[in-house]
Amino acid sequence: MVRSQEVAAVAARSGVALVPVGATEQHGPHLPVTTDTAIAEAFAAAAGAQVVDEVATWVLPALPFGFSPEHAGRPGTIGLSAETLLAITDDIGRGIAASGIRRLLFVNGHGGNPELLHVACRQLRERRGLAAFAVHVPGLPLPAELADGVTTGDLDAHAGHYETSVLLALDPASVNMDAARIDGVAEVTAAAASLTRPFGAVSVPWHVDDLSRSGVIGDPTTADAAWGHRAFAAQVDALADIVRAVAAHPLPPEWVHSRRGDAE
Ligand SMILES: [Zn+2]
Repeated sequence: MVRSQEVAAVAARSGVALVPVGATEQHGPHLPVTTDTAIAEAFAAAAGAQVVDEVATWVLPALPFGFSPEHAGRPGTIGLSAETLLAITDDIGRGIAASGIRRLLFVNGHGGNPELLHVACRQLRERRGLAAFAVHVPGLPLPAELADGVTTGDLDAHAGHYETSVLLALDPASVNMDAARIDGVAEVTAAAASLTRPFGAVSVPWHVDDLSRSGVIGDPTTADAAWGHRAFAAQVDALADIVRAVAAHPLPPEWVHSRRGDAE
């Protein structure tokens, strides 16, 4: 529980607002539609706890919706438009700035969000004077022995080994492994020779319906909780380092210029 005076204390210590950003979207027959939000929340909370003696943080409630047109039309998908997501992130940044906090880190769990969050961060610097950053936590580096455990490699895109393992570690009751099936991998591999393949160098307006009947892209059948615990721990360490770096990052000079004489 966070009260107003605790937020003021984070501001007084030049702390960092951690804003988890997820999605509500289909995650195949075996994972909850809240998977990305649960991952973002858990990472933000764990990283905030890890740095507690060094950096003051305010871990905000998660934004449970994201940009999900690639899953539109499947039951359980509730996506925001790009315009709405940018409006909400600006509103969140406005409130953080008004609370006196000048550093913000979006802790993102959904693969459809990063491009818009990058735009949001640059706008928040311009409009709100914030030092705003975004990190896509599933993309943080994994130790080689863990990366080798993902048999489908780069095609572990959605509800596959990574997400299923991490949820088995965080909230096993939310996973139905009996329903887990490999899907989508053959379809993406078959398109590999095309310059307009999904997940290649060219931006392609892919939709999950092009690739997967079940809604899975990857192989969740290899998932296990131990792998998930180790991946989570390694990536929380990496995220904590990013929080420390954000706390040490210079504030945008235009904010300093606009301050009303209050001492840093
Ligand atoms: Zn996901």
